Amino acid sequence: MFEKILIANRGEIALRVIRAAREMGIHSVAVHSTADADAMHVRMADESVCIGPPPATDSYLSIPAIIAACEVTGAQAIHPGYGFLSENAAFVQIVEDHGLTFIGPTAEHIRVMGDKITAKDTMKKLGVPCVPGSEGGVATLAEAKRIGDEIGYPVIIKATSGGGGKGMKVAENAAQMERAFQTARAEGKSNFGNDEVYIEKYLTTPRHIEIQVFGDGKGRAVHLGERDCSLQRRHQKVFEEAPGPSISAKERARIGKVCADAVARINYTGAGTIEFLYENGEFYFIEMNTRLQVEHPVTEAIFGVDLVREQIRVAAGLPMEFEQDALKITGHAIEVRINAEKLPEFAPRPGKITQFHAPGGLGVRMDSALYDGYRIPPYYDSLIGKLIVHAPDRPAALARLNRALGELIVDGVETTVPLFHALLQDGDIQSGDYNIHWLEHWLETHL
Ligand code: ADP
Repeated sequence: MFEKILIANRGEIALRVIRAAREMGIHSVAVHSTADADAMHVRMADESVCIGPPPATDSYLSIPAIIAACEVTGAQAIHPGYGFLSENAAFVQIVEDHGLTFIGPTAEHIRVMGDKITAKDTMKKLGVPCVPGSEGGVATLAEAKRIGDEIGYPVIIKATSGGGGKGMKVAENAAQMERAFQTARAEGKSNFGNDEVYIEKYLTTPRHIEIQVFGDGKGRAVHLGERDCSLQRRHQKVFEEAPGPSISAKERARIGKVCADAVARINYTGAGTIEFLYENGEFYFIEMNTRLQVEHPVTEAIFGVDLVREQIRVAAGLPMEFEQDALKITGHAIEVRINAEKLPEFAPRPGKITQFHAPGGLGVRMDSALYDGYRIPPYYDSLIGKLIVHAPDRPAALARLNRALGELIVDGVETTVPLFHALLQDGDIQSGDYNIHWLEHWLETHL
């Protein structure tokens, strides 16, 4: 087992990894920008190294600075968290070239899944059902129009390198194709340096259902059920739950096996998420994330597992402790993402936290790097905490979430907490009857 690992991240996810490491008797090294000198992950780690100025490109994304931090501290492995360098194949290669271990999949797996066209092609060959659409990239407007006519409108044009909801445009009909096609290409080019796009049928009432998988890198893999992440704003998740209110045990076992078999066949290592749209009882693959997800705690809650511990163990070459037959679901879990944002525009609101009190009690988990007097810097994303509740069933989980939100105090900045108080009053949320468009419609009429 490693003696020391470095966490190439900040905020709540850095704490998450430090906590797992400490329980395993592994020393942790935090890295931070000058803007984060007082951050909780720096305080909580065993050691810390300043790796650069506030902009992430000069610090959390600086590969030379992170490798140097490993060398000066003697860290043997790097956990990337999510975001930043977590899905950067070149980084993984450099880590390995320096004789260090990347806690995650191989550079090759990241490369294949990071390009959505190659990912879809790979998954199709592995027997995973995909959204109908173009065979690979679409180079010209004429071809795009031909495909639109063939699969039928509405369609969605997606940048193959897209992420975070950027580089996606819907065309409702042939007349909208030109604009959607050009915009998706331009967004792909400016945000990700790649203007290649592909086309998919645009599903109008799907749910976003994602399957958690875990592989040992030697041909064995398991699935840990699904998460329903349909409640989204601008393709960004805000509320996630497991199990999915619309998924039966039979469907879970079927799609879970398809996913576990697929990743086993490619010798996938560590945690991964296979994302689907789910409509009329059918699953359609959209993309795979080759990292730990923000919403992983809901899966941990219902299966009673520690995904980060397992990531570290498998990266160290130990056998995977997960066994499919032993993985059983208990109860229901919900996570809400608490952002320092002003409603209704969801405008970022960095600033000083004058008072913070985390909720507690049975079945409540708060993953947050906040503390009294902490100043949220303006340079990074606005997620300041995740509140996760676990209860015997869905109604009890909703009641627990309501109770825990009532105990939470975050003073000094505006947050998305009022959104969740309001959502919990809604009949559709109470019954679990929502799809990927539900929240956008609700926001238009309620905020
Ligand atoms: P990103 O990598 O930017 O997160 P995804 O491919 O994962 O992009 O899609 C993000 C979200 O966009 C999905 O959860 C869904 O809400 C919407 N979306 C993507 N593809 C389609 C589609 N074919 N039909 C309808 N909605 C889609």
